[in-house]
Amino acid sequence: MTEYPSLGGELLKGVLAVVALPVVVLLLLLGPFGWLTLGAAVLLAGVIRGRESSERAPERTNCPHCGARNDVDATVCSYCEEPMDAA
Ligand SMILES: [Zn+2]
Repeated sequence: MTEYPSLGGELLKGVLAVVALPVVVLLLLLGPFGWLTLGAAVLLAGVIRGRESSERAPERTNCPHCGARNDVDATVCSYCEEPMDAA
C-alpha cells in the first residue's frame, strides 16, 4: 500500500493560511481598541441600514377598493388590480 499525500487538503491549508494570516496579524496589531472600533463600525452600519429601511417603509398606501397595501407610486392595486387613484 502506498500513502498518497492529500494534495487537496494541503492546498486548502495553504490557502487558509494565506487568507487567515493577514487577518490574524491585523487583529493582533489592532488589539482591544481595534476590536472595539470594528464592533462600533458594524453596529453603526446596522443602525444606518435600519434607519434607511424605516424611512422607506411608510411609502405605502391602502387600496381604495380592497384596502390592500400597495406602493404609493403603484397605478393599479397588486391585489384586486383596480386603479389606485382614489375617486
Ligand atoms: Zn385592491
